[in-house]
Amino acid sequence: MTSRLVLAMSLLCLWSAPAGAQDRAVAVTFDDLPYQAAEAVLCDPAQAMALTADFVAMLRPLDTRAAVFVNEGKVCEAQRAELLPALLNVWLEAGLDMGNHTFSHINIHRNTVGAYLADVDDGAPVTRSVLEARGRPLVFFRHPYLFTGETPEKKAAIAAGLAERGYTIAPVTIDNNDWMFAAVYRQAEGSGDAALKVRIGDAYVAHMTAVLDHWEPYSAELTGGREPAQVLLLHANSLNRDWYPQIHALYLARGYRFVTLGEALADPVYAHGDDYVRANGVSWLHRWTFTDGRPIRWEPDPPAWIVAAYEAVN
Ligand SMILES: [Zn+2]
Repeated sequence: MTSRLVLAMSLLCLWSAPAGAQDRAVAVTFDDLPYQAAEAVLCDPAQAMALTADFVAMLRPLDTRAAVFVNEGKVCEAQRAELLPALLNVWLEAGLDMGNHTFSHINIHRNTVGAYLADVDDGAPVTRSVLEARGRPLVFFRHPYLFTGETPEKKAAIAAGLAERGYTIAPVTIDNNDWMFAAVYRQAEGSGDAALKVRIGDAYVAHMTAVLDHWEPYSAELTGGREPAQVLLLHANSLNRDWYPQIHALYLARGYRFVTLGEALADPVYAHGDDYVRANGVSWLHRWTFTDGRPIRWEPDPPAWIVAAYEAVN
């Protein structure tokens, strides 16, 4: 072996070291509890409980340490007092953390700050009571659609209102449109198309790989080459009930540790300023990149056939 070749090889090793040496951590979050399903399903105690039990049974052996976010208003008023605490307790018994995602999944762009904060308050009582019964406080808040306010005034007023209520905001770094795949999957499930479900699931896993390829180096640009602890946004639905184990395996294969949301938020990147004000819900990585005055590079879209199928469903 020539000395030049040895030198080239050792340089290659040096260059490949930083990626391999990343200490990768991710906090997994599932939004839109009790479940992304038709209202009739969520208001039928037997069906709602079966969906919840199946999802949590899928998660248990994976030890995700996930946090989940609740829309209390998704369960019909007639069922809410009895059914909702029973459903939420299934999640808590699996050792997961739980936060507020507003009562009705309210859209701030179509509402006043006062109406928004009232919806935040209405979304808290059952979640708070099941947490407090276990000696734990309600801490986390996740913005519906990741919308934080489309004008500087609204954004500041909402942030102040949430802080006043003692909430810790749960930002998202790994945004990925899983809900779009999920809507198409739910349709395939309804029509009993098993082959299409597999096609959607495979496309979903491939897409989640593509978005990680995007977010990992993009996030490291904010932190001097070190990938920050990530927060992954997913939703409680039948797509993830069937395919989350493959997403989990993908993260393990890329060297991620699964941490709690609180552990992830201890990463200094979450103290970064956020000057991004748009009528749009985007990853906090984009907000911080924008705030630093650097150009945003958008993550990959789902495949065109998923987008078209989603638009046909809606
Ligand atoms: Zn949501």
